[in-house]
Amino acid sequence: MDVYVRAGFAAVSLVALFSFFPDASSNRVKLEGIPTGKTRVLDLTYAINDKLVPWPGDAKFFEAKVNATVEKDGYFTRSFWMLEHYGTHLDAPAHFPPGKETVDQIPVKQLFGPAVVLDVRTESGKDADFLMPAVRVEDWEKQHGRIPEGAIVLLRTGWASRWPDVKRYRNQDAAGMMHFPGFSVEAAKLLIERKVSGLGCDTLSIDNGASKDFAVHHLALGAGLYHLENLADLSELPEAGAFLIVAPIKLEGGSGGPVRVFALLP
Ligand SMILES: [Zn+2]
Repeated sequence: MDVYVRAGFAAVSLVALFSFFPDASSNRVKLEGIPTGKTRVLDLTYAINDKLVPWPGDAKFFEAKVNATVEKDGYFTRSFWMLEHYGTHLDAPAHFPPGKETVDQIPVKQLFGPAVVLDVRTESGKDADFLMPAVRVEDWEKQHGRIPEGAIVLLRTGWASRWPDVKRYRNQDAAGMMHFPGFSVEAAKLLIERKVSGLGCDTLSIDNGASKDFAVHHLALGAGLYHLENLADLSELPEAGAFLIVAPIKLEGGSGGPVRVFALLP
């Protein structure tokens, strides 16, 4: 009798363990599957060169020089210069509000998290100034459950299909104002309430192109979130179930910098 009771208890405990920590166990399996190829990893990063789309007004953005060649020196090295906010990059909290974390000070645990993908390709196709409303976050939660603390929330606008065509990607009007979609302040407020780690987008900026006050930048960076901008094509990501590894350059005192972003597919 006693043996059956114990066995029963053990079975119940095991079931409880897996139902309490389903993600922990599946994420461990995901990591172990990377070297064997069982887990697919997407690289959401553009390679850096001098032909990417810079923010308007930035005259110089990237330069690489060869310092040594195998033929002359027996080895190959280069030096390079670039803007902190160029290509696929991370905005550190210090980018807008003074006194916040610089890129090297972002807590490491904030750089790993489940990916929440908000798909607004249809709306963005109809309205280049589209601001994703908070109700789209609520719709996501109705389908997939509450956004977990530490999630990294990506806005999928489809703008990556315009990369690296400067004209189409910036989409400037005659007055020079850019037109591309972004997060609304209301959506950002709700995501801050959910204690997410960061916001990302496949456009030049988390705020939409027509923004003059960068309200979401002030709000989200002020709350200690970081931003990922100019992410590469997000079309293969599921709306839920992927896991992100965010690896920014550890540049002391940096307002941001180039970042490598990997998505582990479920
Ligand atoms: Zn930014």
